[in-house]
Amino acid sequence: MAPPLLQLRGITRTYGNGENALTVLKDVDLDIAAGEMIAIIGPSGSGKSTLMNIIGCLDRATDGRYLIDGRDMAEMDSDALAALRRDRFGFIFQRYQLLPDMDAMGNVEVPAIYAGIDARHRRKRAQALLELLGLGERLHHRPSEMSGGQQQRTSIARALVNGGEVILADEPTGALDTRAGEALMKLLEELHKQGHTIIVITHEPDVAAHAQRIVEIRDGRIVADRTAPEHALAEHAVAKRAVVDAGMASGPAVSASGISIARSVPAVGSGSGSGWRDRFLEAFRMALSAMLAHRMRSFLTMLGIIIGIASVTSVVALAGGAKHRIIKEIGALGTNPIDIYPGEDF
Ligand code: ADP
Ligand code: MG
Repeated sequence: MAPPLLQLRGITRTYGNGENALTVLKDVDLDIAAGEMIAIIGPSGSGKSTLMNIIGCLDRATDGRYLIDGRDMAEMDSDALAALRRDRFGFIFQRYQLLPDMDAMGNVEVPAIYAGIDARHRRKRAQALLELLGLGERLHHRPSEMSGGQQQRTSIARALVNGGEVILADEPTGALDTRAGEALMKLLEELHKQGHTIIVITHEPDVAAHAQRIVEIRDGRIVADRTAPEHALAEHAVAKRAVVDAGMASGPAVSASGISIARSVPAVGSGSGSGWRDRFLEAFRMALSAMLAHRMRSFLTMLGIIIGIASVTSVVALAGGAKHRIIKEIGALGTNPIDIYPGEDF
């Protein structure tokens, strides 16, 4: 059998040091195979988010080893970790974490910009994903103009834009009503069927029930690890292969199961010249749209700069004028006056 995709061995995470040290994860061992759907459940403060941050390479463990596909995370520098996060992980958060100034398309495109995907492919893919997730009518809506469920689906599209081989969801239904939460979990199940590895963190047993495997954590320790017997892993392995085979298409393909999200994105060298130019243009575009989104703020900032420059210019001009005038007045006294002082000497 192939080694598990993610392997945690003796993972410990301590915040602070000395007397204030707080050990949040204690000697956690966990194996997660490719294609699993796993729920990590536990009460608030038990260390679930801390564990997710470590799994998603957002944080490093204080002690223990974490292997991804057999590679030790400790041996990777921050660039390698950033590349790993960008290319293999997709994150979904309770509060969506969408950029408020950008529309749905813009938000979904962000990870692809950093992956160096050219604008045309990126847009095509973002649009296809949003359409598949039922947001075809919301492509150009900002987060504030969408419901919670729509925002969360946008964040799923964002998690998938670079492939989203492993989806990490921290309390994804926490801000949604029951119906939207249920729909979201169905969507995650669908993605699981297509071969994505799904890790859901939750404190709600109903949400966890959608997973094939439930790991329970309490006070930073794993206290239970159950696999629902009715879910044979083989079925998912087959589905996964089908997705990989269908893979190389540049956009998502619709499969019998409804939404099949093709994993692969045409790889463009992220360090290439066009990548840099693209990113520069993108930064410029983002800056411009941020300015347009906050017209009043931009106007006031500009007004401040205008007043500042105007006052410096007028002070310089006034000083220049005064100097000129004084010289002129002195000049009017004559060009070669003789001063005579009383006294004997010079
Ligand atoms: P959960 O997601 O299960 O609710 P967390 O992993 O967020 O729990 O937090 C577990 C414990 O770690 C909590 O007691 C929290 O106060 C503490 N904690 C989390 N992050 C930090 C941090 N950056 N610094 C100090 N303590 C933290
Ligand atoms: Mg949490």
